[in-house]
Amino acid sequence: MERRAFDIRGVVQGVGFRPFVHAMARRLNLTGFVANQGARVAIEVEGQPDALAQFEHALIAGAPPLARIESVSRRDLAVRGDASFQIVNSITRRDAAVYVSPDAATCDACLTELFDPTDRRYLYPCINCTACGPRLTIITGSPYDRAQTTMARFEMCADCRAEYQSPGDRRFHAEPIACHACGPTLAAIDAAGGDTGPAIEAAAGAIRAGRIVAVKGLGGFHLACDAGNNSAVAALRSRKHRDHKPFAVMVADLVAAEAVCEVSDDEATLLRSAARPIVLLKKKARGADSIAAAVAPDQTRLGLMLPYTPLHHLLMAMVNGRALVMTSGNLSDEPIAIDNDAARDRLRGIADLWLLHDRDIRVRCEDSVVRHAGHGPILIRRSRGWAPAPMALSFACAAPMLAVGGHLKNTFALAAARTAFVSHHNGDLDEVIALEAFERDVSLYEELLNVRPEIIAHDLHPDYASTRYALARSGITAIGVQHHHAHIASCMAEHGLDAPVIGIAWDGAGWGPDGTVWGGEFLVAERGGFERAAHFRNIAQPGGDRAAREPWRMALAHLRDAGIDDDGALAGIQPSARRVIRRMVDRGINTPMTSSVGRLFDAVAALCGAAPEMTYEGQAAMWLESLAEQSDAAGAYAFEIDDAGGAPLVIDTRPLIRGLHAHARAGIAPAIIARRFHTTLGAIAASVAHVARDRTGIDGVVLSGGVFANAILLVEVETALASAGMKVYRHQNMPPGDGGLCLGQIAVAAARIAGPKER
Ligand code: ZN
Ligand code: ZN
Ligand code: FE
Repeated sequence: MERRAFDIRGVVQGVGFRPFVHAMARRLNLTGFVANQGARVAIEVEGQPDALAQFEHALIAGAPPLARIESVSRRDLAVRGDASFQIVNSITRRDAAVYVSPDAATCDACLTELFDPTDRRYLYPCINCTACGPRLTIITGSPYDRAQTTMARFEMCADCRAEYQSPGDRRFHAEPIACHACGPTLAAIDAAGGDTGPAIEAAAGAIRAGRIVAVKGLGGFHLACDAGNNSAVAALRSRKHRDHKPFAVMVADLVAAEAVCEVSDDEATLLRSAARPIVLLKKKARGADSIAAAVAPDQTRLGLMLPYTPLHHLLMAMVNGRALVMTSGNLSDEPIAIDNDAARDRLRGIADLWLLHDRDIRVRCEDSVVRHAGHGPILIRRSRGWAPAPMALSFACAAPMLAVGGHLKNTFALAAARTAFVSHHNGDLDEVIALEAFERDVSLYEELLNVRPEIIAHDLHPDYASTRYALARSGITAIGVQHHHAHIASCMAEHGLDAPVIGIAWDGAGWGPDGTVWGGEFLVAERGGFERAAHFRNIAQPGGDRAAREPWRMALAHLRDAGIDDDGALAGIQPSARRVIRRMVDRGINTPMTSSVGRLFDAVAALCGAAPEMTYEGQAAMWLESLAEQSDAAGAYAFEIDDAGGAPLVIDTRPLIRGLHAHARAGIAPAIIARRFHTTLGAIAASVAHVARDRTGIDGVVLSGGVFANAILLVEVETALASAGMKVYRHQNMPPGDGGLCLGQIAVAAARIAGPKER
């Protein structure tokens, strides 16, 4: 006989880990115990050596699907002669962070029960188990047990209680456990407030009839309608005041997804993962016409997702094979509605019917968005299904920290010791309601994860709502982190890079310490600091933020900069408007200077014929990427690199603009111009990185910033850098855009407080 202790770290609570250990110990005739301890499970087992070896192997190989094991440590103990194997009550440790599992899509076992007429949960819309269901979105406090969730007010029936208490059951300590007899119930309410009877039937009927239904999901409301019905989709657009931004579509299963889009094996894996994100997929030449054109106008891609709650499965089963638009339940720019009253109130005039249940949503958590590019996925929005999973850090935080992220696409992060927790997507912090949710959720995470920050890291932009929040919080040391340094440090943290790197940070805008707007940056960076090695030439941004909505303004600024008087390529714009902007540029009126690659994309999009006005962030760049996707033309435009000696290198875009303008005037197809532009940026990345390597000896290149959500660009840049012999790192588990900033702020702040030793 031998006795061994195992200490397992990771997401191990509320995911069926203890029953799994219990069942295995019994099967192998081992005695001892298993106990939860916050972010750990402690196990002691006693038995024959070969049984112990089998146990150890199966511990990792056979772990339940939602468990995320970070580490397993073991040690030998003296034999104690236990009589049986026990599940011991949770032991809470005061000092350690607590791990919380992300929400997970309905598992196959629950799905089978859902449609099994003999099962007691047949057609029950809130079925779940330890392998699936709500987690983060229903938590009200710590530690994670039923009393600290929005399920607290539902008294378990005897049958559910028996399952909940039985270690051999799939629902042992499934905190949101429920059934027809004891759990949440559905209702469908019409615009007049009347109950319409059987809820799913009413909702499905309304959708089939071309109406718009507000559907309560896992982390908020969706607005749903028949994606194949042009007038329903058009009505949704006009009522929601959303002109062009693509809608996500839910299809019943993988086969239905493959009918409208091309789906690779990697993409299928993403679609079917427990996180169930929206996956941006290439529309099929034939097949995609079953989806109304207004769903994703001017896009070669469609955002598809599969059902992830039992309610979705029931609804999809009743709409006769239709695909459904499933867009966030809000008015444009507002945060998504989460509670029934707010949804009734704020979606009045948009929805015709509300499909509700009475399990409250505590944490607003929107759908995650991901796409595949080259050899791996890019997270565009990291939220439901990812947050708040722990991320292992290669460095230690000397004190518990909070990083508040940026202003747009906000996420925040908490970190302690060697682990960081990145929040769900909070959206843009312009609206009071979004800012309130941000402040509430920061407090909730601090309690939930048991991380009490002593350091708060923030962006240097003084007008970001997140910065103001950080500076207003008393009793915590604030550390400001430059925007693009945070982008690069975020990607470094993901890869555990500590040696200096060449960081390429390209995005729309970030606060630059020299009074200009940065966004086309090459930084020689380590976690604690950086030097600006190169940047794109500063260009006037006429009208500031308005230039981001009217891309032709940047086109005019670039043409003026390149000494081109002919603005015939912008013939679609009123001559008087062009005159005004030209004058602004020439006289420097309300024209901040920017090195932004995002704004360069705007200029090129306008020269390729993009619409005069954009209605959502990144629209011009997405449009240009879609255009480039239609050409495989080789070749690039010219550019120059100015070396003034001592100062950062400057990438001169004037030759690029001249070449591109000449092509546009000569009637070269816009798709070819767009493609060559992407290739040019790859060549610029490689040339500048080459110079930086010669000067520093560094050959690791890190890519970050929202511009790298563009898959064509990402692959062009990666390819060009790799053929120049550089080692390239891209984001894997964080978005390249501002949703990734908070992790970088953690990494930089940790290096700063650690001082010289850590550096
Ligand atoms: Zn399940
Ligand atoms: Zn029950
Ligand atoms: Fe940024």
